[in-house]
Amino acid sequence: MECSEADCDRSAAVELHVPWAENRYVCAAHARVLGRRDGVVADPLPDRGDDLLG
Ligand SMILES: [Zn+2]
Repeated sequence: MECSEADCDRSAAVELHVPWAENRYVCAAHARVLGRRDGVVADPLPDRGDDLLG
């Protein structure tokens, strides 16, 4: 699964629970930025080795 942010092709590492929108799956870098907004909860995804499996 890829990061849902535009122009980002890193693997999603975190599920963001956004009160005012649908949940989003983002990479660790975007989670750090987006997760700082009020009410957003960052929930790390289990490591399923997506990168290794392609
Ligand atoms: Zn990203």
